[in-house]
Amino acid sequence: MKLTGREKTGLILEAIVTVVLLLLLNLAVVVLINQALYANPGLREGIFIIKRSIVIGNYRLWSWENVFVTFMAIFDVFILYWRLIRRYHQIELRHIINELHYIANGHLDHRIDFHLSGNTESVIQSINALVDSVIDSMDEERAIEHSKDELITNVSHDLRTPLTSIIGYLGLIEDKQYHSEEDLLKYTGIAYLKAKQMKSLVDNLFEYTKVQQTGGTQLSFNRLDVNQMLEQLVASFELEANKHGLEISAIGADEPFYIQADAEKLGRVFNNLISNAIKYGEGGKNIFLRSQVIDQHEVVVEVSDDGPKIPEESLNKIFERFYRVEGSRNIDTGGAGLGLAIALSIVQLHGGYIEVSSDDEATTFAIHLPVRRTDKITNPNAKKTPKHTEDSNEKK
Ligand code: ATP
Ligand code: MG
Repeated sequence: MKLTGREKTGLILEAIVTVVLLLLLNLAVVVLINQALYANPGLREGIFIIKRSIVIGNYRLWSWENVFVTFMAIFDVFILYWRLIRRYHQIELRHIINELHYIANGHLDHRIDFHLSGNTESVIQSINALVDSVIDSMDEERAIEHSKDELITNVSHDLRTPLTSIIGYLGLIEDKQYHSEEDLLKYTGIAYLKAKQMKSLVDNLFEYTKVQQTGGTQLSFNRLDVNQMLEQLVASFELEANKHGLEISAIGADEPFYIQADAEKLGRVFNNLISNAIKYGEGGKNIFLRSQVIDQHEVVVEVSDDGPKIPEESLNKIFERFYRVEGSRNIDTGGAGLGLAIALSIVQLHGGYIEVSSDDEATTFAIHLPVRRTDKITNPNAKKTPKHTEDSNEKK
């Protein structure tokens, strides 16, 4: 810490005043003692006897003045040191307060850069750490605010598009601008489709905000037969896949194995992955669902399709909310780009993660779920299930 000229002068003045006061005090003590000795001969006699009787080595303590002067000198130095150090600490404190005022006046990038000793140094470090954490939380707050704004912009955009269509077609019907019943059915059909898209978006949004809210989502864990789940998924998507010229099949382990999971939420994850495989797997032939256990501590369920590959630059973005690969927005049945963000949040709530790989042969989403101690894995051969994708372009 650098002292200002004024502070240095203050310290010198303090020293001078203290020395003067101490000299006066010493003088007063000497005068009082002398007076007491002269007024009291008995006391003088007593002191004389004590002085004669005290022997330190070969040295007889004749000069009691020496003892007195030494004692007074030590006392004076101690008082002088105490007064100066007290004043110095006041100056330190004033410097810290000034720095705090400076930071509080909006100079949040400023830190106290001088070093002091002892407890005062830890006060300075604590203040600096406090300012750092305030800045961090302000940045975080700003990022959240920004992401909320972005969310509102995206939602309003994605709601406005189908809404504009609905209003347009209903307007045509209202103004009787159709030539035949066929036209009328076409217009209502489009309006209905767009309304369904809007509903799907609102549902997804609701789901997304629910899984994002910390503590907002309570998972209800139940024992889940993974093979059975895959078979049910195949059954429920078979028709739709066939409509798109795709075959869907499950390759599970021979024996059943169980995990602890929220069946409903996990179902939503696979629903989205499979409907993505159908929507974006155009041109492909198959959708495979596979399950396997790795080292008895992790279950991996893969959903893969042999449709067009996801461009490499998009692979690490598809889990961001509202992200859709270029071109996907034009697909009529397309959603808002929330499905994978929701899926990832749900899998993370289960303590797992999703990997994605995509090449000319296949696009594979691999869901890794930890096996809890209570889960019973009764599938010793599961590890032998062949892995089908290359692990390039993986993303956790
Ligand atoms: P939503 O799921 O909200 O209805 P969405 O399907 O567009 O909308 P996501 O499921 O998050 O959103 O998928 C994000 C993007 O990732 C998709 O728009 C698509 O471009 C790409 N994608 C996802 N799965 C596949 C896949 N199997 N093959 C090719 N591209 C895919
Ligand atoms: Mg989707």
